[in-house]
Amino acid sequence: MPWDKDYKEFCIPGQRRNQVTITMSNSAPNILNESVKFIKSVGPKRAESFAKIGIHTIKQILFYLPSRYLDRSTILSINKAYGYIINGYQGELTIIGKVIDKEKVRYGRKEILKVQMKDESGFFECVWFQGTRFFQNLFDPGEYYAISGKPSVSKYGNIQFVHPDFDRILEDESQEFLNTGKIIPFYRIPKELRSTNLGDLSLRRILHYAVEKYASSLQETLPGDIIEIHELLPIELTIKNIHFPENKELLEKARIRLKFEELFFIEILVALRKSNLKTNISGTSMKIRTRLVSDFLKSLPFELTKAQLHVLSEIRKDMESGKPMNRLLQGDVGSGKTIVALIAMLIAKDNGYQSVLMAPTEILATQHFKNLSRQLKGIDINISLLTGATRSKERQEVLSGLLKHECDIIIGTHALFEEGVEFNKLGLVVIDEQHRFGVIQRSRLISKGFSPDILVMSATPIPRTLSMTIYGDLDLSVINEMPLNRKKIITNVRGESKLPLIYQFIVEKSKQGYQSFIIYPLVKESEKVDLKAAITHYEELRETYLSTVRVALVHGKLKWNEKEEIMRDFANGNYDVLISTTVVEVGIDIPDANIILINDAHRFGLSQLHQLRGRVGRSSMQGYCILVTRDEYAEKSLTYNFNFEYMSESVIEKNKTVSRLQAMSKFSSGFDISEIDLKLRGPGNIFGIKQSGFPELKYADIVNDAELIMKAKDAAFSIIGKDPTLKHSEHQLIRDTLLNEYRENLDYSRIG
Ligand code: ADP
Ligand code: MG
Repeated sequence: MPWDKDYKEFCIPGQRRNQVTITMSNSAPNILNESVKFIKSVGPKRAESFAKIGIHTIKQILFYLPSRYLDRSTILSINKAYGYIINGYQGELTIIGKVIDKEKVRYGRKEILKVQMKDESGFFECVWFQGTRFFQNLFDPGEYYAISGKPSVSKYGNIQFVHPDFDRILEDESQEFLNTGKIIPFYRIPKELRSTNLGDLSLRRILHYAVEKYASSLQETLPGDIIEIHELLPIELTIKNIHFPENKELLEKARIRLKFEELFFIEILVALRKSNLKTNISGTSMKIRTRLVSDFLKSLPFELTKAQLHVLSEIRKDMESGKPMNRLLQGDVGSGKTIVALIAMLIAKDNGYQSVLMAPTEILATQHFKNLSRQLKGIDINISLLTGATRSKERQEVLSGLLKHECDIIIGTHALFEEGVEFNKLGLVVIDEQHRFGVIQRSRLISKGFSPDILVMSATPIPRTLSMTIYGDLDLSVINEMPLNRKKIITNVRGESKLPLIYQFIVEKSKQGYQSFIIYPLVKESEKVDLKAAITHYEELRETYLSTVRVALVHGKLKWNEKEEIMRDFANGNYDVLISTTVVEVGIDIPDANIILINDAHRFGLSQLHQLRGRVGRSSMQGYCILVTRDEYAEKSLTYNFNFEYMSESVIEKNKTVSRLQAMSKFSSGFDISEIDLKLRGPGNIFGIKQSGFPELKYADIVNDAELIMKAKDAAFSIIGKDPTLKHSEHQLIRDTLLNEYRENLDYSRIG
């Protein structure tokens, strides 16, 4: 089939430049694919500078969207502004005026620039003390500007802006803007464009011309019924109004349309991926056949919670169906996910299949191995452990045991993916702590030629909007209750000056059989200093506040077996206090450890704090989490009362640290914590998104567009549900758009 090259890109500079994708050549020759140089006042020179920011075609320039708009709602006439200021208004405002005159005035050796301006109701002036020569050259009589800033009234009674922000506009624009409500766009002008003399006015003119002339040639990318049902703007009106909005409402509708379209195609990808996993690969059908599972349940010293039972029934259904299971099991730390996974592994065994349990670290793998070995005592099943630390002779034995099917369950780290690991009959893969592996490994496993059932366990609750997007191809099971005997962990934020009292508390509790973690932060950038601090504190505390209890130190620089030994001794009750850098962060289960003191708590992220807190409160004893921070933060955290549901951006920005700490003391559920985390950190920094191969969002926002995500998801899934390969003629458009615009992401949807 003949292919030709075409550039695809949604023209936001700085993102995905110059990506070449391939479209079918039978798509009609389209004016939009012509070079930008044909646009009036662009030409070859400027076309080159556009190319440098990834804009080659006319279509691409149509998608070079404004970075901001002149906000009409804050614009005042001079006499109104005067009234405001006289009455004590001290905020920012914008006035549109025409330059009348400019003059330089000398004050001793200083020179200041005054620019006189006027609008229909009066005069005002702008003043610069610095860069006077530069600004003098900018402002010329007769030009129109929108001036923004905090004005004052000079001693001569004039309204004055000192060093204001300003945007040059045209006279017509100023008229339209003030009289018809048209909104004026501004575009980012990277240095590549500036170098060919493009400024606000000229770029706006070029875009105006391009939009007027070419927007009508854009082909609709969304099916008509979807546009109708969701009351979306068609593409032509969208592009017209995103650049030169008729009014605010239409601007908003244009934005929504772009977001919806983006989310819709992403959800189509997600739905395709899911349906591929379900339909293209046939899996195993496993069900309970012997008394293995019931014997195991009887051997447990506790009953499963309702949530565990429910989740188990979902997993059993998946395992029984002939399609491979692809399930995400979410539950807070300690909610009992591992037991559920273990039962699934017993079902696999019941059907003659092997299972894998993958942990993110060696310590965790080893711990899983020990716990499972203990829990499976007396049950006829073979477990092995394989990590990077497994010696070569033992490794050989484990590997041959796997191949000969002498081993039913293998527990390990990602070493399990390495060459040379072969299974006899692999039926189930359990992946603990999802985000450390990410989507890529999942597909790698599958591409190895297996089609096992996959169960991903995550203790980091994923906010709803994310589980509908990145993880949308997985079925979701949630354990939303803790085992009955658990008490809510008491979490307090305390200033550093309270440390002596806290140590006293730890010593007293030690006498009652409590064990404590004392955590010091350790981050990459200041690793050496942090490590030294932890060691110094350990030595000091041992001599002073904690001299009457048994204290151990563990940190990341220790050898694996040294760490292992200290942790084991601590688990066996040989120490009362374990001082640690963040190595205990993940998954360790030490039931008697019920106090965790986290130093410099403000240096930790919210989800990390929540993970750390999850190390305690794993028994029926009361758990405590003490977040120690600077006195001022502690003070603020105790006195302020943040409203986490409706926190404005400015409040978030100013109080990120303190609100994180307060969130910890207010909320214990990981789901609440994760929602707040998302709000505080913004969508850009969510774990795993980058690694997942998932398309980057350009228009929509994972946090604030939850409702649109839902709608897009419903629309996409219902289409793929009816037409999983998009071969119906009414879906031709979706198919074409995917091939043209989202080709690079199609890999995400294909498996193996
Ligand atoms: P998770 O993997 O979700 O962090 P685990 O499966 O490690 O949690 O369970 C934490 C602890 O709680 C383990 O010691 C486990 O044996 C215990 N546990 C699990 N389910 C229950 C239950 N229904 N009732 C009481 N204890 C439970
Ligand atoms: Mg766990």
